[in-house]
Amino acid sequence: MVRAHVGPQDKRELFSLPFLLKYVFLIIKMLKSIKSSDLYNFIFLKCLHCKKGNFFVSHPYDFKKIGQVHKNCPECQRSNFPEPGFYQGAMYVSYGFGVALYMGLFIAMNILFPDLGMKNIIIVMSVLFVLLAPLTFAYSKITWAKINFSKKEE
Ligand SMILES: [Zn+2]
Repeated sequence: MVRAHVGPQDKRELFSLPFLLKYVFLIIKMLKSIKSSDLYNFIFLKCLHCKKGNFFVSHPYDFKKIGQVHKNCPECQRSNFPEPGFYQGAMYVSYGFGVALYMGLFIAMNILFPDLGMKNIIIVMSVLFVLLAPLTFAYSKITWAKINFSKKEE
């Protein structure tokens, strides 16, 4: 019976300084280990070749430069455009992302907030859709590039 030991005393311990510091160190260690990994480069939209330069001209919410990919990486100069119209295929990824994301969201909201009602769920999803559209746009482009670049490099 492990649970029998959990009392108020132990709960206070959870928020003690040494305990928190241990947590902070753990998180820093984790972040350091993923910095060089693919996940980090993907999340921060880095060049798929050198992982140093930025993939996009600006951040996803810069509406003047939305979705603009660097023709050549500013760091390694390698091309991000293997052929004209290459990024049209990102539409398929975007569609897949959209379906997966909003299906998941719909199911999650039905489970977490069963009393919310269909009307409110649709409102929440519409707001999220608008807010997240630039992000899904950016991530579908870089995912499309990643799928195709890795196929060519093999
Ligand atoms: Zn590069």
